Amino acid sequence: MPKAKETPHCSYCGRNASQVEALIPSPDQKSYICTDCVNAIHDMILNYHEENGNGHKKQSGSIGMSLDRIPKPAAIKSFLDQYVIGQDEAKKYLSVAVYNHYKRLLQPDDDDVDIEKSNIILVGPTGTGKTLLAKTIARLLDVPFTIVDATVLTQAGYVGEDIESLLTRLLQAADYDVDRAQRGIVFIDEIDKIARKGDNPSITRDVSGEGVQQGLLKLLEGSIVNVPPQGGRKHPEQRMIPVDTKNILFICGGAFDGIEQKVAHRMNSHVVGYSTDSKRRRLDTKDFMRYVAPQDLKSFGLIPEIIGRLPILTHLEPLDRNALRRVLTEPKNAITRQYKKLFEMDGIDLSFDEDALDLIVDKAIEYKLGARGLRSIVESIMVDAMYELPSESVKEFKVIRDYALHKIEDAHFEVADN
Ligand code: ADP
Repeated sequence: MPKAKETPHCSYCGRNASQVEALIPSPDQKSYICTDCVNAIHDMILNYHEENGNGHKKQSGSIGMSLDRIPKPAAIKSFLDQYVIGQDEAKKYLSVAVYNHYKRLLQPDDDDVDIEKSNIILVGPTGTGKTLLAKTIARLLDVPFTIVDATVLTQAGYVGEDIESLLTRLLQAADYDVDRAQRGIVFIDEIDKIARKGDNPSITRDVSGEGVQQGLLKLLEGSIVNVPPQGGRKHPEQRMIPVDTKNILFICGGAFDGIEQKVAHRMNSHVVGYSTDSKRRRLDTKDFMRYVAPQDLKSFGLIPEIIGRLPILTHLEPLDRNALRRVLTEPKNAITRQYKKLFEMDGIDLSFDEDALDLIVDKAIEYKLGARGLRSIVESIMVDAMYELPSESVKEFKVIRDYALHKIEDAHFEVADN
């Protein structure tokens, strides 16, 4: 029998035509290279020439990078596509914002047009990929990255972490290389939890809400902040490190539960809140999220100054069944791939039946665990096999639906209350 024809794929990164912008064939049509790999090779050649003093003068600002080395927005998006399922709009906004951020860094100091910082705010339900997007961007750019939970921050002098502590974490992520930290990315999670309580500016102290927002202002807009290298207040003797936040990119994320009502209200219509048709209600809500605007963040309780310093606003969609199913297998470090790798190290070929994968998704939906739940469900299915198989002489292990169901039932998951 003749050998089945292989689908064309990039010989460098292995992706096929549906995963890349274009595949360029070799003259004999036997192999291909994708546009992303062409770009990456082009960058390598430019670097080589630069390091060897062969001219190729490039625009290079104070950050020691050049525009040639910064991936173009489309390339940033296709990199994100390898790790994050769906969320096309957020990916597009993020790609452009990051590209512009680096263009800004390349500006000579004496330029008379001052490009403003493109800090970003991502609005979307929990577990839809906000943190993953920010993390993946940092991985692409190879810059220090840290995640801080806004809820632990408090105004100076109160119990909790000082706002400067988020720069301590960035410094730690940069191994205390201040220059690198000054070009890093900080992801501030749960920014919606520091919303002002109530619509009016408070007269009483609001140490965990408005006070923190006020404190964040100077960091977001760019200023020199004295950062305690060990963080916290336990080391009053430590010498402060001045960190300039001008070129640090801040990405904020929050679920902003109920914001669609504010969007709907602003747009002078109603969410079909009392409809018994839950599918229709979900669709309506989702549609409103598409129109989320700065004034909705204000009605939610973010102060206008903060909103002004987060000029890029975009939203993430809830993950539907189809998206959850893709999360299981498609991303470069998809959960099933991680387990395959673990078993491979023991010389065991692990595979999952399609029915078993469908069951995992069904259970994540049934228990309302979303994308975050996929991992714990797979873990509950795999734990016994991971315990037993390494000491047996098994070469292959296939997870079928019945086996998965049995293990999930044993694990006694409960429906999450969200
Ligand atoms: P969020 O920050 O929106 O609350 P995360 O980015 O932390 O959510 O997502 C939690 C986990 O769920 C991630 O580690 C990832 O495994 C998975 N996940 C969520 N959304 C996606 C997505 N769009 N594509 C791939 N994996 C996702």
